[in-house]
Amino acid sequence: MTSGIANILEKRDHDRSDILAMLQCSEEEAPLLFRKAASVTDRYLGNNVYLRGLIEYSNMCGKNCLYCGVRRDNHTVARYTLSKDEVLEAAMTAYRLNLGSIAIQSGENTSTAFIDNVEELVREIVSLTGGRLGITLSQGEQSRETYHRWFEAGAHRYLFRIEASSEALYRKIHPDDQMHRYHRRLECLKIIQEEGYQTGTGVMVGLPYQTMSHLADDVIFMRDFNIDMCGMGPFIEHSATPLGSRGTDNLFLRERFNMTLRMIAVVRIIMKDINIVASTAMQTVDRAGREKAIACGANVVMPNLSPAKYREGYLIYEGKPGYREINGENISGLDLGMIPGTTVCLGVWGDTPHYSNRVAKA
Ligand code: SAH
Ligand code: SF4
Repeated sequence: MTSGIANILEKRDHDRSDILAMLQCSEEEAPLLFRKAASVTDRYLGNNVYLRGLIEYSNMCGKNCLYCGVRRDNHTVARYTLSKDEVLEAAMTAYRLNLGSIAIQSGENTSTAFIDNVEELVREIVSLTGGRLGITLSQGEQSRETYHRWFEAGAHRYLFRIEASSEALYRKIHPDDQMHRYHRRLECLKIIQEEGYQTGTGVMVGLPYQTMSHLADDVIFMRDFNIDMCGMGPFIEHSATPLGSRGTDNLFLRERFNMTLRMIAVVRIIMKDINIVASTAMQTVDRAGREKAIACGANVVMPNLSPAKYREGYLIYEGKPGYREINGENISGLDLGMIPGTTVCLGVWGDTPHYSNRVAKA
């Protein structure tokens, strides 16, 4: 059996059955998979870890995804939007700490005021930092014009998970209405890439109804889309959502965590030089979750810079770390001595060669 996975890991190209075999390898074989992924990271990216300071800009959301704690119909959440000064202060904290880049994330809001505010914030941050702080956006589905305006303002990366690349599975985890259409989601991902952003996508791992086959197809989807960044995390129930109303199943959380490590390793082996996030959801299940993800091929960490008093409002899933134990400076999840054998790179945007190669080929 061990030689089976070893042979697959030796191959230059992997087909769907190889991907499935890697995802389904035994407990004994998994370390081989993880070591291979780590060696690919080392070879292509030199074991550098990049940082993105996360600013959770607003929890106002027009959507109603069945898994998410800030969905529109969760009326137990106090809604907030950071003021311009609060965002700029968080961005300047990132700049002062030399993190190199930030990611501004929020619920989905397509109002004119919101779109204008994001544009203005991006311009202001570029101007205050002389363009030295990289800016990632993650504001969900928007029009081409909006993506274009934000890109022109100076944002250069966009995180936009497809959530589930199978249309059938996507439909099972979203309401069946005009606001939640798989094809619209896919179209937005294409537009984001066409507008010039470094494009990030990903899926949740361990969703209800999800099979191994779905996960293998998710990897193929990301490869065929030629994405530049990948963010994946275990699905974690939120009790105030339709998919979480029966409570969290701790036993299965560990399974989802382990499967996410395998997904990270396989994506690294298949896509080699993209940026892969060690997500906060990994840290939620296991205190050392991000470090474990990095040892399996992830290379990006997102310390949270959202002001302390708003953290409780951005619980997309329950148990999210960093809203009780933060220090007075509103920073959590930043531990620069984190992983032996890796270098945390300060003061750089943290682009990998993947994006420039993709653009040069196009
Ligand atoms: N509104 C934007 C970005 C914020 S949500 C968007 O939807 O694109 C960020 C991510 O949180 C989502 O893409 C989803 O993958 C993840 N998420 C939401 N609910 C979750 C849950 N219960 N468990 C794990 N991840 C979840
Ligand atoms: Fe809103 Fe994003 Fe949560 Fe869906 S996943 S409910 S779009 S914040």
